[in-house]
Amino acid sequence: MKFIEIKNFTEDLISWQRAQGRHHLPWQVNRTAYRVWLSEIMLQQTQVSTVVDRYQSFLKRFPNIQVLAGSSVDDVLAEWSGMGYYTRARNLHKCAQVVVNEYDGNFPNDPLLLERLPGIGKSTAAAIAVFSYGVRAAILDGNVKRVLARIWGVGDDLSKSAAVKSLWAHAEQLLPNKSADLVSYTQGLMDFGATHCTQYQPVCMRLDKKECLFKNRCQANLSNKVNQIPLKVKKINVQQIEMDWWIYIYRGKVFLEKRPENGIWASLWSFPEQNIFNKNDAEKLNSVKHVLTHRHLKIHPYKILLSSQPKKIKVDQAWVPLGDALKLGLPKPVSAFLKSQDLAHDDA
Ligand code: SF4
Repeated sequence: MKFIEIKNFTEDLISWQRAQGRHHLPWQVNRTAYRVWLSEIMLQQTQVSTVVDRYQSFLKRFPNIQVLAGSSVDDVLAEWSGMGYYTRARNLHKCAQVVVNEYDGNFPNDPLLLERLPGIGKSTAAAIAVFSYGVRAAILDGNVKRVLARIWGVGDDLSKSAAVKSLWAHAEQLLPNKSADLVSYTQGLMDFGATHCTQYQPVCMRLDKKECLFKNRCQANLSNKVNQIPLKVKKINVQQIEMDWWIYIYRGKVFLEKRPENGIWASLWSFPEQNIFNKNDAEKLNSVKHVLTHRHLKIHPYKILLSSQPKKIKVDQAWVPLGDALKLGLPKPVSAFLKSQDLAHDDA
């Protein structure tokens, strides 16, 4: 892959970020490695507007890495509830324990060491190193790949490792020489990808025709290929899954069980998928649809009001007062279901 010279890309991006980029996000103030790391992990698959609120509440509950490492993974999952991609929460917990046990509670500043920590990839490691320690390192997340591919007119399949390797090398060459510019440049790439050169409807294609500072240098724009870059070739096989929920209610309590450590909603609390108490008087409720990245779920809920509480239950099962259930780590459709039903007034 050959990269033509795009005049003043780095300088112009830095100036743009200083004048028009984002400066007031909660993780941009008091930039400690802990706060930067947390924001980077949250932002991986969640929109900024959602992260702004959830970030503050996470920090309130786990104000520093020692508190996070000393908490149970259940507490972390409960705080993460509703944000999806729960592997992130499990890795946050594991990573906190490694940093406390092996690095005395301080994140290393070497991107290669950061990359070895649970849940931290190469781009996230670079972002933490730049924002927390001013280390010279290049980021290349999905947004940055798109920006670079469009401006340089890279029409290759970016799921191929050779293309990604080449983009990494290019991203490293583009880094500013002055260390004082590193933060603005890195933040500029993030801001530009998130607000201007977006996946759908980048500013150059919007009806209001907002100006893009690179419009006369962007190869995708000049060749009318903005919609075709980056190339989308990856086919996602979507699995259709049907599942039952058996919702047992007894005197204001709901029966929940912890899901296995692997698979859908790993380690979160949910309703049993089998009629484990062998009851015949179930009320069939409206089906619930839920879409995951590679799976479309159709859930069939059955409600059963019990007149006595089965005593024999397993370790990862619990009768939970309805008022407390939402404090657990629950999959999004389970919490939405609990909020939508007036189960508190149900009784046999
Ligand atoms: S001209 Fe369009 S595609 Fe090119 S950098 Fe600007 S917003 Fe992105």
